[in-house]
Order: sequence, then C-alpha cells, then structure tokens
Amino acid sequence: MNYVWSTGTHVGRVREGNEDSLFPESSGSSSGPELLMVADGMGGAVAGEIASGIAVKVASEADASDPISSDERVLKANAAVGDAVAADPSLAGMGTTLTLVKLTDDGVLNLAHVGDSRAYLLRDGELRQLTTDHTLVNELISLGRITPDEAEHHPHRHLITRVLGLGPVGVDTMKMDLADGDRILLCSDGLTTMVSDFGIREILAAGEGVEATVWALIEHANVAGGVDNTTVVVIDARK
Ligand code: MG
Repeated sequence: MNYVWSTGTHVGRVREGNEDSLFPESSGSSSGPELLMVADGMGGAVAGEIASGIAVKVASEADASDPISSDERVLKANAAVGDAVAADPSLAGMGTTLTLVKLTDDGVLNLAHVGDSRAYLLRDGELRQLTTDHTLVNELISLGRITPDEAEHHPHRHLITRVLGLGPVGVDTMKMDLADGDRILLCSDGLTTMVSDFGIREILAAGEGVEATVWALIEHANVAGGVDNTTVVVIDARK
C-alpha cells in the first residue's frame, strides 16, 4: 500500500498555548510501515503541552518497522507521563489523550486509542468514526441516560474518563484492512467540538489533496470559534 499524509496543528482563537502534539510533524509519503498520532494534553499552565509531548515522543521512539504493538506504544507513553509527574510533583494532574495508527506495507491499519481525540475513516464517500470517545457523556449515552443531542450541551461534556498519565489505563485497539482510496483522519477535539461529522465529511470528500484538506479542516474549526487547539492528520491510502 502507498500512503501520503499531511499534518497540521493550530492554537485556535481563544487559547494562549497549544497543548496538542502530533507525529510526524511534516508531510510525507511511503509504502509503509508508518506511524502517525495525535495527543491532546491537559493540566493547566505548560503541563498539558509537556504531557502530550512526552506521549508522542515515547510512542514514536521505536521505529515504525519495530514489532512493538500499537497498544504497547500507548502503555509506554502512559508510564512515561506518570514517571515525569513522579519526578516533578509540580506537574501533578497533567495527562494526555493519544490516538495512534500504525499502517503496514500490506495495507493493515493498527489503531490504539485513549481519550477523546478521534480517528475516522472515509471510504466510498462515507465517514465512519473508528474510535470511541472516553468521555462521561459518551458513557451516559451508551447507558441510555442522555441523548446525543443532550450530550452536546451537557455541563460536563468535556470530562474525560480515560487519560494517559494518571495510572493504569485500558487501551482500545482495532485492526482493519485498508482499501484503495481510503482516507484516514486523526484529530484532537478542537476539530470535533467545532465542526460536525457532516462538515468533516464534506471537507474530507471534497477531492482536495491531503495538505489542503488538513488546513481546510483547521480553518473551519477556527471560523466556527476556534475555542481549543486543533490538530489534524490526514492520510490517503492508494494501491
Ligand atoms: Mg483539546
């Protein structure tokens, strides 16, 4: 499989700093294996930025060709963020999401995920969310306690139930075969809180290249308010 990708991050229109991190930081192409990820840090002051930075650094330490599994990469990142807090108590409470894909040369996507960043697949014009948000509102929806509409206005809609850096964590994993023409999106919640799935699908399906698509998504998040940092990775898979 051949992959071509572009990545971008923007502070947004409200926040002073950017606490998101991504990997890789530049556009590129290869026939795989390839590793790509987004992380959204939290913890106030500069701690969120430190947490997401550690997570992507540690998760990408082993080369994409290394046999280490995607969930092991996320668990290593979890331990490293925890170690950083243990070494410097002023960082207590910092944490980060991490959504990571490894794309193999034979066209398999290996996903590992913790938190409320997301991975999507656009296939044959249809958008499918590959990850589950680890949020309180999402758990309330699955329990039938609130509706998706109510979740959008829930006072605790930003509360994350799983995060790296705060102790043992369950990692969601998924493996799937990619098809020629698939487009994959990884993004932080700065995009998904500002732009609906309908809007994301329109932009991904507009037929633009990966780089133009990355910046169109970020621009839409900022035009809609840009209340958070927005980080986006777009990958095209071609046979
Ligand atoms: Mg965010």
